[in-house]
Amino acid sequence: MSQSNPPKVHLVNLGCPKNLVDSEKMSGLLQGNGYVLTADPEQADVVVVNTCGFIGPAKEESIQAILEANRLKEEGRVRAVIATGCLAQRYQEELQIELPEADQILPLAEEAHIAAHVDRALGRTRDHYLDSAPRAQLTPRHWAYLRISDGCDHQCAFCAIPGIRGKHHSEPIDKLVEEARRLADGGVRELVLVSQDSVRYGADLYGRAQLVPLMEQLADIPDIAWLRLMYTYPAFWTGEMIALFANHPKVCKYIDMPLQHIADPVLRRMKRATTRQKTLDLLADLRERIPGVGLRSSFIVGFPGETEAQFEELLEFVAQTRFDYATAFIYSPEEGTSAYKLDGEMDEETKAERYRLLTELQERISGERNHALVGTSQIVLVDERTPEGQHLGRMERDAPEIDGQVLIEGPAEPGQFIEVEITGAAPYELNGRVLAPQRRGDDPIGLSRGVAGKGSSRDGLRGERSQSEQGGKDAPWESPERVAPRRDGVQP
Ligand code: SF4
Repeated sequence: MSQSNPPKVHLVNLGCPKNLVDSEKMSGLLQGNGYVLTADPEQADVVVVNTCGFIGPAKEESIQAILEANRLKEEGRVRAVIATGCLAQRYQEELQIELPEADQILPLAEEAHIAAHVDRALGRTRDHYLDSAPRAQLTPRHWAYLRISDGCDHQCAFCAIPGIRGKHHSEPIDKLVEEARRLADGGVRELVLVSQDSVRYGADLYGRAQLVPLMEQLADIPDIAWLRLMYTYPAFWTGEMIALFANHPKVCKYIDMPLQHIADPVLRRMKRATTRQKTLDLLADLRERIPGVGLRSSFIVGFPGETEAQFEELLEFVAQTRFDYATAFIYSPEEGTSAYKLDGEMDEETKAERYRLLTELQERISGERNHALVGTSQIVLVDERTPEGQHLGRMERDAPEIDGQVLIEGPAEPGQFIEVEITGAAPYELNGRVLAPQRRGDDPIGLSRGVAGKGSSRDGLRGERSQSEQGGKDAPWESPERVAPRRDGVQP
């Protein structure tokens, strides 16, 4: 059993980027209070599992992670196990009964006191704790998430998030700008804004949504080259937002808009605040006013009462819209949601078949769109070096961790913007050859916007999510484990 001094903590992060931000905050607090983070659970004194409680498979994965940590404890390899995160928040009492081996099951609010809880689990005491510390970035050095708000005021029938994360609450603009400056000073070039409901950012603090002023201020930070927005609820897009996406050189022309369905009767049963026609009008508007915009969406199949005809309508919509990326989720009945008691629950076989049909359709579309990029030149942000000595990067249309990547041949460094020629394509991956590496001191915006290749970097299609584990590769300290794919595709 490890009894290191200072004690070591292994943090398992599961779930979505919002959860990752919580893990980053806990990591910062643990480090600030004298703990060392380790990527190896067997070197740890304590394992902290930051769980996801969103839908069935995510819950199962979280429980398995806790059981695995408990096994290490039983074998005497670690001294204590702590579970926190959304699953712990949602089922604290049940977990305390079902998993008595776990030393502590902490609700979300207790994450701010994680160092004290780890101390308690180890039988340590002290008089004073550092109660705020910069979050420890667990993504590669050149990109980071910025959580602009948490919680949600919508009441989508299938969604457990409001019951877990509470009402929508935003971080003040000045605090976010300060955090973004700190990240930029540390080498971040791409900021990925996340929340449960990005479009309504600031409405709780300022009386009306303040997303555009926030994004403008973040984009003013000189070292930030790409500003990417995730999780936009379709009903609340504004003309002001569209203008920002169309005109601001640093705002990625990439729209992540989970739609969940397109058939009106299903949207009504889901309690979504939009209709088929409004969605079609918005998509047409976005594509007209933001030429070449990349579109990502996600859909739920097998929602209670979804008829064959309504599913066919969804398939046809996806086929016609030709999203860059579209992820399907099988409906998971969740306690505490209004859909939980709906009649019309579908058999698992039908759900699985609908999932297969939608996934295969999107894969075909993604493959076709990627093939259309072969021979074009594109600007790529280099993410990582592969064990084979090549590099992986992303285009402006690709969000980290969920979208496609470009496998790059030629000289490149993580964090660089480079120009590549696309030489090959698969549904979710492209091959590229370096044309022009960025020189030290180059203006990344000039490079990312100034390419006049055979095609535009915004002509293409997105691939499916890649689930590469990138956590902390460039971090100056050992990183926590990143074991889970994102589970947040059905939000907002
Ligand atoms: S799906 Fe998204 S918008 Fe709807 S309640 Fe859940 S978090 Fe809110």
